[in-house]
Amino acid sequence: MNLLIIRLIIFAVLFFAGLKLYRMYREWKLDREELLESDETRREGGQMVRCSWCKVHVPESDALREQGEWFCSSAHRDRYLQEQKPEEKE
Ligand SMILES: [Zn+2]
Repeated sequence: MNLLIIRLIIFAVLFFAGLKLYRMYREWKLDREELLESDETRREGGQMVRCSWCKVHVPESDALREQGEWFCSSAHRDRYLQEQKPEEKE
């Protein structure tokens, strides 16, 4: 009788431990898939824009926008704006 109860408890513990592990694994897998998916949609959805200074294509999320033009970096933006308005030099 006692042995049966102990066996039942052991089985129950093993069952719940297995269930918990399985759920943890499933959540981890889902998280990974969501991460990969969002990364891919971001890459696909993100448009490429051309730097008006060096003509290099950069993702829109990494580019800077100034006066309707796109730039790969603030340095190129500044140089482009300086070239655009030479008369405004002091
Ligand atoms: Zn550039």
